Amino acid sequence: QLVLGIDTSCDDTGVGLVELAADGSVSVRANRVWSQTVHANYGGVMPELASREHVERIDAVMDDALKEAGVRVSDISAVAATSGPGLVGALLVGLMYGKGLAQGLGIPFYATHHLEGHIYAAASESSLQPPYLALVVSGGHTHLFDVPQTGEYVLVGATRDDAAGEAFDKVARLAGLGYPGGPAVSEAAKRGDPKAVPFKVPLAGQKGYEFSFSGLKTAALLAHRAGAKPEDLAASFQAVAVKSLVQTSVRAARDLGRRTLVVSGGVAANTALRESFAATELNVIFPGKGLNTDNGAMIALAGAAAIRAGRAAHGLEDGATAYAPLANSAG
Ligand code: ATP
Ligand code: FE
Repeated sequence: QLVLGIDTSCDDTGVGLVELAADGSVSVRANRVWSQTVHANYGGVMPELASREHVERIDAVMDDALKEAGVRVSDISAVAATSGPGLVGALLVGLMYGKGLAQGLGIPFYATHHLEGHIYAAASESSLQPPYLALVVSGGHTHLFDVPQTGEYVLVGATRDDAAGEAFDKVARLAGLGYPGGPAVSEAAKRGDPKAVPFKVPLAGQKGYEFSFSGLKTAALLAHRAGAKPEDLAASFQAVAVKSLVQTSVRAARDLGRRTLVVSGGVAANTALRESFAATELNVIFPGKGLNTDNGAMIALAGAAAIRAGRAAHGLEDGATAYAPLANSAG
């Protein structure tokens, strides 16, 4: 079966195609993303502009994805589109586009949770058999979920304040490293000393599994004002942020008796983070190239997982939701 996945939750127009084989294995056939640049001058994403850009681009991104996979629209057997969380106006574009296609082709439609997409992005690398822990580290989330069985998400811990990706973006900005912040910090960190700025690991000694990045951001600002070199600041911040994510996740895995950890979301593209997680005793699964930051293939992968699990398709009446916790317990 050929599953189409669409994500327009924020400022990326993503369309992907995934093949779900009879034996349940999945392979990404296409993954096209148009990253909007109109927001560069505003210092943040402008929701109204984002919606308009999605409307203008989605057809072209869809065509590119079909070309990449070498298939036609009529070859698609199911559609998955992100219904939340995200910017409602932006979400609606991809959601309506997906519903329209499903309706027109008479095929099943799956409204998909954006974070479930981020988690299933790792399914391209392995069959992703529960139980496992999933750490989603992105621009808006730093959430650690326990996944005892397919489709069940228990929130184990989350950030108290800023998301990890948000902190990378803010540190990049204050150190004048440019945008997008994550890759910029990662690049500058290669030329810096991770011990130059003595950041403390946030919430060290806690019993729970929470994260916190706003204190680090303030500490980075103070170090910057005190004259720390941008490269040293980047290296030191990255080192402590990674340490915090790794230590807390590994501790949670030990306490809960989980052996497998999925690390996904934009920050999971970070090389230092990958190396550090790979050095733990856990079986760590990362999404492949192009599947970490927002994209359509991850939504198609989540859709394929829903189909494989025999979940019922969704009706076309439900809308987009800005706030949509994945776990039953808040978040
Ligand atoms: P959410 O999924 O929470 O709604 P989002 O969709 O905006 O947020 P993603 O696209 O998953 O987030 O990830 C974007 C974030 O990932 C940005 O904050 C960016 O700085 C960060 N990021 C991207 N590449 C890297 C990297 N190499 N190192 C660290 N951070 C990175
Ligand atoms: Fe995302």
